[in-house]
Amino acid sequence: MGYSIAIDGPAGAGKSTIAKKIAKDEGLIYVDTGAMYRAMGIHLLNNNIPADDEAAISAECKNADITIKYENGEQQVFLNGENVTGKLRTEEVGDMASKCSVFAAVRTKLVELQQKLAKTADVIMDGRDIGTVVLPDANVKIFLTASSAVRAKRRFDELVAKGVKADIDEIEKDIIERDKRDMTRENSPLRQADDAILVDTSYMNIDEVCKTIEDIAHEKGGRA
Ligand code: C5P
Repeated sequence: MGYSIAIDGPAGAGKSTIAKKIAKDEGLIYVDTGAMYRAMGIHLLNNNIPADDEAAISAECKNADITIKYENGEQQVFLNGENVTGKLRTEEVGDMASKCSVFAAVRTKLVELQQKLAKTADVIMDGRDIGTVVLPDANVKIFLTASSAVRAKRRFDELVAKGVKADIDEIEKDIIERDKRDMTRENSPLRQADDAILVDTSYMNIDEVCKTIEDIAHEKGGRA
């Protein structure tokens, strides 16, 4: 295993924005594990598999060949040879990703891919179970959170900036529902690892959050 920073936390806490910036600052490869669950979501939607049919999902997930490549430092996700990176961030795909991620067959397959990636490079990896399951020996573990109201506002602003019409109360309701599903599932629920450091970003800007985490990482050392 190389050097690794694990970032876990609920939806909309700012994990990917923060991890991307730290990856640049520190010369690490950013691994977005949510993108892999989303690619699986696309595969299941393409095949009209019901989100609650564990047997069908467990069988079908074997036919999803998900691979990761890096172009100009940006993660590209391939599903059965097709680059699906631009299709990952829709509500429909996010919803399917959240629902299928409760099943052991899906998790086992994607965790294996994530652990393989961490063996080949120094990484900053974000998700829900990185510090607890995927990289239990990570050099630095951060649990990134913010209040659901702040997280809903951030998602709302993101959508508005893209010109998408959105309802902030609907977004907050959806965020709370996804958090609940992630935290109460049987397989690898979202929780703060015992040795993770909690960073609440509710009242911090992006630079402040990055500096806090980089200071923690530098203090711990451990990088060749
Ligand atoms: O982080 P993102 O919203 O892209 O993740 C999509 C979904 O995939 C999440 O709602 C979560 O249920 C699931 N996920 C997971 N474990 C991870 C990353 C994502 O269960 N390591």
